[in-house]
Amino acid sequence: MLKNNTNESKRTLSYLFHNDYFNFLSLITVLSGERPIGRLVISKNLISKIASIVSNAGYRAKYVPRSMLSESFLFEGGKNKWKCTKDDIIHLKKNNIYFYISKQNSLIDKLIKYDKVLNIKKIGKMLHYPTCCINKFNKNVEHNCYSEQELLVSAYDYSKNKMQFPFYLNYGTFGKTLILHYPCAYNCKKSIDLAKINLSLVKKVSFEFYKKIISYLKKPVFINENAIVYFKDSGISIGKKYNSKEFIVKGRDYKNIEIFEKGIKADNVFIEGRICYFK
Ligand SMILES: [Zn+2]
Repeated sequence: MLKNNTNESKRTLSYLFHNDYFNFLSLITVLSGERPIGRLVISKNLISKIASIVSNAGYRAKYVPRSMLSESFLFEGGKNKWKCTKDDIIHLKKNNIYFYISKQNSLIDKLIKYDKVLNIKKIGKMLHYPTCCINKFNKNVEHNCYSEQELLVSAYDYSKNKMQFPFYLNYGTFGKTLILHYPCAYNCKKSIDLAKINLSLVKKVSFEFYKKIISYLKKPVFINENAIVYFKDSGISIGKKYNSKEFIVKGRDYKNIEIFEKGIKADNVFIEGRICYFK
């Protein structure tokens, strides 16, 4: 399918790449045959666009409003609540849908069944996530860790060599990533293998996307339980100062940042955390 894109499906893929990257990756991993089923999380107004690309490729689709499934808003509304307010969650429940794609209806029905009860282990297995990462995610959820910050801090702490990580497992600016799950560690081998396959799929869709992804993923990030800072420069160094044009922050609002070994000074306040370098 990825080779025979019509102009319309090319436009949809390009739209998703730039505006809704996670769904872009989720979609191409199914349409290329890399995994038997995928689940996109989209807003209602994207249904017809995605449905047309999916049926043109000979796949079946079904969708379910998120409000019909088990409480799956812990991620957005987790204890940090950095991503959503209460109003956002009410809006999401009304407008967000789970959009399932597979060649087999029976697989779709099975995944909907597991989503209805939030069976993390079965859901993860069906979506082709590595077992080590599913188990780690499950443990994190049991400890009430849902936010991206907490999950990435957990991946960092669980990693062996912390000096430098393979760019394959970075969760970069604007949600750019090569994996669809949170890795158990930044050097999880099974996740790296998946990321390599996914990078080659991105390259098949567009060489320009492929180059963009790599450049996003090679940039360092600062993480702690509350914030993620994405640096625009790939060569940041200790002692250097950055202004707000040189980074993007999620979760907090910083104007100036100075880099230290075990954290950052943000607007003159030292904040402990992890600086992750990706090569
Ligand atoms: Zn893993």
